[in-house]
Order: sequence, then structure tokens, then C-alpha cells
Amino acid sequence: MIGTTVGNGTANGVGRRAFIKAAGAATAGAAFTQAPFNVRAGTGDAGVPALLGGGKAHPGGWPKWPRWIPETDESGLLKVMRSGVWSRAGVVSEFERRWAEAMGAKRCLAVVNGTNALITALAQLDVGAGDEVILPPYTFIATPQSILMNGAIPVFCDIDPATYQLDPKKIEAKITPRTRAILPVHILGLPADMTAIMAIAKKHNLIVVEDACQAWMAEINGKKCGTFGNAGCYSFQNSKNMAIGEGGAIVSDDGAFMDRCHSYHNYGNAYGTAVGAVGGGTVMLGTKQRITEYQAAIGLAQLARLGEESARRHENAEYLKGKVKDIPGIVPYEFSPGVTRAAFHLFPFRYKKEAFGGLPFGTFLKALSAEGVPCSSGYGPLNKGQYVKHAFATKNFRRMYAPADLDYAAWLERTRCPENDLLCQEAVWLSQSLLLAEKADMDGIADAIGKIHANAGKLAKEK
Ligand SMILES: *Cc1c(COP(=O)(O)O)cnc(C)c1O
Repeated sequence: MIGTTVGNGTANGVGRRAFIKAAGAATAGAAFTQAPFNVRAGTGDAGVPALLGGGKAHPGGWPKWPRWIPETDESGLLKVMRSGVWSRAGVVSEFERRWAEAMGAKRCLAVVNGTNALITALAQLDVGAGDEVILPPYTFIATPQSILMNGAIPVFCDIDPATYQLDPKKIEAKITPRTRAILPVHILGLPADMTAIMAIAKKHNLIVVEDACQAWMAEINGKKCGTFGNAGCYSFQNSKNMAIGEGGAIVSDDGAFMDRCHSYHNYGNAYGTAVGAVGGGTVMLGTKQRITEYQAAIGLAQLARLGEESARRHENAEYLKGKVKDIPGIVPYEFSPGVTRAAFHLFPFRYKKEAFGGLPFGTFLKALSAEGVPCSSGYGPLNKGQYVKHAFATKNFRRMYAPADLDYAAWLERTRCPENDLLCQEAVWLSQSLLLAEKADMDGIADAIGKIHANAGKLAKEK
């Protein structure tokens, strides 16, 4: 058990005065926070965690997501609705031009979602049966599924424990004669080390598809995530920092590849250089992944403020990191080399329970939520999922591979990722929308964590 005195100012700074100061600042000039400060009568002292009936360290009332601002957002959408042209046409093309421009890429294709952006990019780079694709395990399920959907085998490579991203130092040990591509993920919106990854890809002649589905506007040395490899993929799902509800995009500077992607997303109908003469009918294997005009109109409205929101998240995240990094047992993210902007789809830190008197991870999450700071645990280990076993058992895989290639136990052994296992047990996430609040709200988050640290002994005993 730890005592109530701790050797740093952050935890000790949680007193009634700190609450009142945070309350005043949060109320004055807070564009996003609406709720009044809410210390419950008679229980407002810092010595009683909210989980045990004390007042909250933060009043709640966080910015809502997604944002919809009728004055600026509705005219474009209404115009589309009233036109009766709802299927892919000029507004989608306009959105693609603007997205390519915002990312600094030559071309963009909008598709139905991020999952299908990945599936299409891999397919049109001819990644498929017999190929292995190296990817990190700390990601969303769509990443490995996009590889399996193309008939290729995902090979998980462990993460860097400081950045949570694919560790370039561990990639070469995973390369075999079958390795065809690397699929780095800029997970949580923090850029992967693309300088090192691209050097490895070049050396081994590998394709690189970036999963930038959480990394809109993130940058390494001023260059946008999604523009380093052969293709970059984005998601515009409802919870994402660039929210359309559903939607996705592929960007690339390779015109012939983008023509093939376009054809594939439109039933395989001829497009540009990909399949011979335009007007040649349906000339390649394809599916349908087109987004609608009204989705594009929503996208244009969101894109208009994405730059400003991204800058705000980055600034607030770095400020918050500075405030929590000295609380014992709280270990925030580190950036990969050269990062000039992160998207912060999530604000991540590790929780080390030893420094909190052994307070269990789950109780910490409950205590922090009770203090008015919504939070969650992160991903589970995707390198152990049953979905791979199922894929290996499908008819397609059994026809594509020899039985020895589909030995699930051997695959599990090959894709062990101990650093990721540990991260999955320790990572705490705060949602991107919290980072759109005011600086005083970041103080409130830090106060809440400090308060739990100072009272960890009490929480461990009573919960
Ligand atoms: C959201 C996400 C996807 C999939 O995007 P959808 O639009 O939901 O299909 C892929 N990869 C990562 C890392 C994501 O966060």
C-alpha cells in the first residue's frame, strides 16, 4: 500500500483550491464544456475518491462527437438531398480532390469504409494467395482481416513498447521468401516510424500499405501519414476524428494503381489506364464500394475543420502528457522519430498498478470514470484470435495453401508478441473528443489521476 503523501507536486496539488481553480477556468470561456462544476455537497474534498462517494475531479460535460454545426454544415448536404443525385457524382469527386490535397497525395479514391480501402489497396497491389504480410498486433481487427480477405497470411511483428507502433527493429526477423508486404498501422493516431520501415521495405523489395485509419493529418517531418508507402488508407467511420458515419479513402501517387482501384470499386468497369480503352465495358474483377453524394457532402463539412481540430488535439495531448508523466505509475506514449503532428484518435498511457499500491487495472478505470473522466482499456491481443483459425479452415484457404502452411499452432508460435501482450494489459485510452476541450479540462484530467494515485490505498481497501 502506498501512503497519501507522494513525492511529486501533481498528486499533492489536488486539493480543494485546485478544484475551485479548475472549475472557474473550465466555466469561463469554455466553448465545448457545458456542464457546471459539480462537486457534490459536503463531499468535495480531495481525500475521498468519487468512486467512494466523494466529489468529482472533473464535472464531465465533454465535447460531443461527431460535431454537426448547422450554420456551416447543412447547406452542402441539403443541396445534395434536393438535387436527387445521390449516387456517386461530382461531390464525391470534389471530396477526393480535397482529400488528396489535404494529404499531399496525387490521387484519392473514396470507398465505403476503411476496411475496404485496405482490402482494395492490397488487392490492386496484387497481394494474395501464398503471400505473407507483416503487421503489428496492436491494431483494430480490420487490419488483419483485410489481409485474410485477400487470401494472404498475416504475420504479426511485435511493437515498440514506448511508441506502441510496429517496431522496425523486429521486422527483419519476420521476413521470409514469402513476405510480400508490410502493413504498418499508425495506431491511436501516433505515426509509426515510417523512415525506418521504408528503408527495410526498399532493402527487401516489399510493398508498403499504410493503415492510416486513425491518422488523418498526422505527420512525420511535415509529410502526412498515408503518403510514405505504395498506398495509404483512411477511415471516416462515426467515431473517427474525420467522421462521416461510414466511409474510407485510398491515396497514392501511382496513377495506374489508382485507376485499378477505381475500376475495382465500380464493378470492374473500365477506368483510365488500368484496363485498356475507356468505354471498354467491364474488363477486370471488381466489386462495388462507392460512397454516396450525401456522404461526401458530410465529409467536406468535416474536412473544413479537421486541420484546426487536429492542431487542438495535438496541443492538448502534449500538454496533458506533460502534466501526467510525473505521476508515479503513469507512463504516457512516446513519439516515433521525426513526428511533427499526431492525430490522437486516442490519448494513451500505461497504468502500472505497483505504483498504485496494487490497485487493479479495472478498479483504476472505474475510479477514473467516476471522477468525471471517461476512459477505457485498449485492444486485446489480435495475434491470438480465432478468426485466423477459421480463415485457415475455409475452402478457399485449403485450396490456396498446403496443409503445413495452415498449421494454426505453428502460426500462433510464429506470431507471438510479448510486448503487445503487456501493453494490452496496461493501456488506458482517453477518447479524442476529450482533447477538443479546454486546457483547464486537461488540468482536470491530470487532477483526477493524481487524486486516484493519492487515494489508491483507500480504493484498494474498499473496492
Ligand atoms: C477504423 C479502423 C479500420 C477500419 O475502418 P472502417 O471504416 O471501420 O472499416 C481499420 N484500421 C484501423 C486501425 C481502424 O481504426
